[in-house]
Amino acid sequence: MNPADPPTLPFLPFALPEIGEDDIAEVVDTLRSGWITTGPKAKRFEADFKAWLGDEGDNTDGLHCVAVNSATAGLHLALEALGIGPGDEVITTTHTFTATAEVVRYLGADVRLVDIDPATLNIDPGAIEAAITPRTKAIMPVHYAGLAADMPAILAIAQRHGLKVVEDAAHALPTTSAGRRVGTLDSAATVFSFYANKTITTGEGGMLVTRDAALAKRAQVMRLHGMSRDAFDRFTATVPSWYYEIVAPGFKYNLTDIAAALGIHQLKRLSAFQVRREQIAQAYNEAFADLPLILPPQAAPGDKHAWHLYVLRLGAGLAMSRDAFIERMYAAGIGCSVHYIPLHLHPYWRERYHLAAEQFPHSQQAYERMVSIPLYTAMTDADVQRVIRTVREITRA
Ligand SMILES: *Cc1c(COP(=O)(O)O)cnc(C)c1O
Repeated sequence: MNPADPPTLPFLPFALPEIGEDDIAEVVDTLRSGWITTGPKAKRFEADFKAWLGDEGDNTDGLHCVAVNSATAGLHLALEALGIGPGDEVITTTHTFTATAEVVRYLGADVRLVDIDPATLNIDPGAIEAAITPRTKAIMPVHYAGLAADMPAILAIAQRHGLKVVEDAAHALPTTSAGRRVGTLDSAATVFSFYANKTITTGEGGMLVTRDAALAKRAQVMRLHGMSRDAFDRFTATVPSWYYEIVAPGFKYNLTDIAAALGIHQLKRLSAFQVRREQIAQAYNEAFADLPLILPPQAAPGDKHAWHLYVLRLGAGLAMSRDAFIERMYAAGIGCSVHYIPLHLHPYWRERYHLAAEQFPHSQQAYERMVSIPLYTAMTDADVQRVIRTVREITRA
């Protein structure tokens, strides 16, 4: 290295969780308690989650929160409880992570992938309506990057055609749609993710939220082997605790108390996390306004964007390829990612449904020019300025 070179800054990862001392203390408390799998902390996390959903006045009457070990598990349980199976079709966006669609295949049903609205990058309600067939049973919108999908339109389509809506809310904590919190809308079920890079984390985990008592009951039984009573109920019961009945071939989708302990404290900081994410997003928006970039869509006035992701698109005026942009960012020590390689480009989905990029022009076009830059609460102001400086340098060159 030339002695005149500036000292190299450490690598700035694309995403990092923010784990506080309270989170750690609660996990340690669980480890010392003698009960480490699903038990009192998972129950408390479910109750806290419901209370959180209602803490700004949204109606949570009759809402059930079912903790699971991933959002993928929660989506699977929701569709299973709705009776989705062979011969059925479920409509979702091609512009998502494979988890959204794979759960449909777990049940032997088929996926109908549709294109996005190029302005919001969310599933296009017009494309949903065009894809409905007599076999269609459900619609799975994804609140991409943390911006609500057009839920009023989607719920109206579902109602007109007698379809169920299961929201993939992996990015949408906290997000509002027409002033209401995602999780309290009129869909059959909403599923949040607490994966390591999501807006709150339990390492791995998820929450299925529903107003449908039968759906909640089925998911509670199916998340633990199809047992009529869970282990903690049996452990703490005063009646003979060894007895249970298997009512279905269930799954192993329960959330451990170790994970729930983390979730209880992450949830307490969710509002502060959201404020910080919003701040970083606004700093980016201002700093990039004059660059040949398409900035992320904003939430409608009065609505909340969770800012799980900050997705830039390289403008037509920028000759550089998306891959070259990411390489330059890495060379400057900044991690980036792409959300997502659309499902229609993956061999499994492409071959199973004979898909071609031309069927999804908006997703395809966005994919070719999009890059997600770091946005997370553990970033310092200096980290944010460094990302801004680097993006400006790269796009000006
Ligand atoms: C993260 C994610 C999932 C899966 O969440 P897990 O908790 O990891 O199962 C599903 N859909 C989308 C859009 C995601 O980003």
